[in-house]
Amino acid sequence: MNLIQFDGARVKNDSLIYEFSQDNKPALTIKSGEEVLLETCDCFEDQLSSEHDELDKLDWDHVNPATGPVYVEGAEPGDVLKVEILKIELADEATIMTGEGVGVYGEKLSDGLSVRYAKVHDNILEWDDKVAFEIDPMIGVIGVAPAGDPVNTGTPGSHGGNMDNTMVREGATLYFPVSAPGALFAAGDMHAIMGDGEIGVSGAEIAGEILVRLTVVKGLEISDPVLIDQDDFSTIASADTMDEAAKKAVINMIELLKPRLPLSAKDITMLLSLAADVEVCQMVDPQLTMRYVISRDVLDAYDFEFEPQL
Ligand code: CA
Ligand code: ZN
Repeated sequence: MNLIQFDGARVKNDSLIYEFSQDNKPALTIKSGEEVLLETCDCFEDQLSSEHDELDKLDWDHVNPATGPVYVEGAEPGDVLKVEILKIELADEATIMTGEGVGVYGEKLSDGLSVRYAKVHDNILEWDDKVAFEIDPMIGVIGVAPAGDPVNTGTPGSHGGNMDNTMVREGATLYFPVSAPGALFAAGDMHAIMGDGEIGVSGAEIAGEILVRLTVVKGLEISDPVLIDQDDFSTIASADTMDEAAKKAVINMIELLKPRLPLSAKDITMLLSLAADVEVCQMVDPQLTMRYVISRDVLDAYDFEFEPQL
């Protein structure tokens, strides 16, 4: 693949992990603040394509790979890794899967799993001869080594992982709590487009390239991922149920805002109750992921700063 013009560090799509783990050997070591390009496989590790549709031969031990990990010098447990998504480019064909036993409707479907393929070109995904979508590329799996035991790359958590959050797109900045020296960042599982919830268990799964800048932030405390883009500030949380995940995202947001806004906890709660939205990331993975989203305009009115000001 050579989709993004970039002369710096590159991790090829044969450096793959299937679990986020403190024990993973780095594929690459960089300095804080450097950019790195990751080549990513689709969530089926590119095993399926319209030219050789061999669903029955799909090796399920090789799904949801993430490219990496990247060791960022200076990152220590207790720090935060800031991930700026500078650019995303996609391959030219997406794979979509659903069927019996998977996703929200899987118990009503029969005859195993089915796939279909969709061409992606000129920012368009061709669904059929009636419907085409403008693509909205996003990264499904992105994160760092977790605290404690390894977590497979199909499962989201406080370390990130398979969050399937449609806001993880070009231009977004993510913050992850660092639990291992070097943070051990990895990403994969891109989607050309995905609806919030990902109810059928897949988006438009597609390979591609991601250019990120990775920066260690000291003196910032977070328990779960935070995402900031041009418009919004959001907290992301995963749990056994959507209720728990949503509650965690809301509580995390209020805890982050309390020391950063000149308002009481009650005033912050009232403000958010008027203006912030609880939204679904995905409802089909082993843990479910929700986000809580507030417009930056509201926060900027109070000169809100998320990162510690040096
Ligand atoms: Ca995913
Ligand atoms: Zn995916």
